[in-house]
Amino acid sequence: MNTRVGTIGTASPLVADAHPMIDPFGRAVTYLRVSVTDRCDFRCTYCMAENMTFLPKKDLLTLEELDRLCSAFIARGVSKIRLTGGEPLVRKNIMYLVRQLGQKIGSGLDELTLTTNGSQLSRHAEELYDCGVRRINVSVDTLDPDKFRKITRWGDFAKVMEGIDAAQKAGLKIKLNAVALKDFNDAEMPELLRFAHGRGMDLTVIETMPMGEIEEDRTDQYLPLSKLRADLEEQFTLADIDYQTGGPARYVRVEETGGRLGFITPMTHNFCESCNRVRLTCTGTLYMCLGQNDAADLRAALRATEDDALLHAAIDEAITRKPKGHDFIIDRKHNRPAVARHMSVTGG
Ligand code: SAM
Ligand code: SF4
Repeated sequence: MNTRVGTIGTASPLVADAHPMIDPFGRAVTYLRVSVTDRCDFRCTYCMAENMTFLPKKDLLTLEELDRLCSAFIARGVSKIRLTGGEPLVRKNIMYLVRQLGQKIGSGLDELTLTTNGSQLSRHAEELYDCGVRRINVSVDTLDPDKFRKITRWGDFAKVMEGIDAAQKAGLKIKLNAVALKDFNDAEMPELLRFAHGRGMDLTVIETMPMGEIEEDRTDQYLPLSKLRADLEEQFTLADIDYQTGGPARYVRVEETGGRLGFITPMTHNFCESCNRVRLTCTGTLYMCLGQNDAADLRAALRATEDDALLHAAIDEAITRKPKGHDFIIDRKHNRPAVARHMSVTGG
């Protein structure tokens, strides 16, 4: 292990010889997803229970601490950071962190992006662009306002559409994310696709993952994307393309619309062989895999001393534990999720 790692971050000199993070399977970790809060102003039925117990605010890292952690990862080869949650834009003063991280674009960081439900986008869109954000993901599972309310429990469809308008006006490129839900939005997919492509947005569909206790039966919600793709192919010509965004989606071009459609298939197709990601929570816990329970506590190392040497040692140790792949299996007999924590803890 490299013990000559110096301190980094705004208040400290840059790491002179920080080595990249290579896991035991030879994969370089270059992508950090940061869940800046586990809280959210929606309660999507596949993501959360209606009455969630959130982390006490005192357990949260400050935005300055999150910035310091992100800087440590950038020094170790992370070139892409995605802010997520919970809903990242409901974290108080979140734009402070966005601005701090935005300043690192071009100095190690290539891209800063976020995944949002869009509810707060209209008031933040311009500032996001100003901070250096160029692309964002917005989650929209249906275009029907009543169904939208049903699936998000608390969401206002019109507000999200306003957010999308504002973001496009500000110059942000948008990718829509839709979780594919059996008997909920499967029949609506062609419409969602035409809407997204008509507005110059890519669309990515995601298989539901069994994470955290929810009220619904996950096996009732699950729709394999192979089925969705076959259905879409009755109306559209889908051509496989090599397009990559650094995430796990596999893309096709839709000949009729000229737009791109991505498939994220953790359940039917394991995408782990090319995994370049780790996930940091708002309490400083690092998950080396979305679909496993193992994690490393970086908060203790972060707070132990202002010198980042301990932190880098903790990161090194964590990376040696990055597993080969996830293990999502729904415990059908007991309807128990494969991973106990909700998606909002690690941000998807
Ligand atoms: N609140 C933001 C949003 O909804 O975009 C960011 C966090 S959310 C957890 C990130 C993504 O995970 C969203 O696109 C959401 O639809 C997806 N998601 C949440 N729970 C999921 C689950 N159990 N399986 C698959 N995707 C899920
Ligand atoms: Fe909130 Fe996003 Fe989860 Fe929906 S998917 S409840 S918007 S964190």
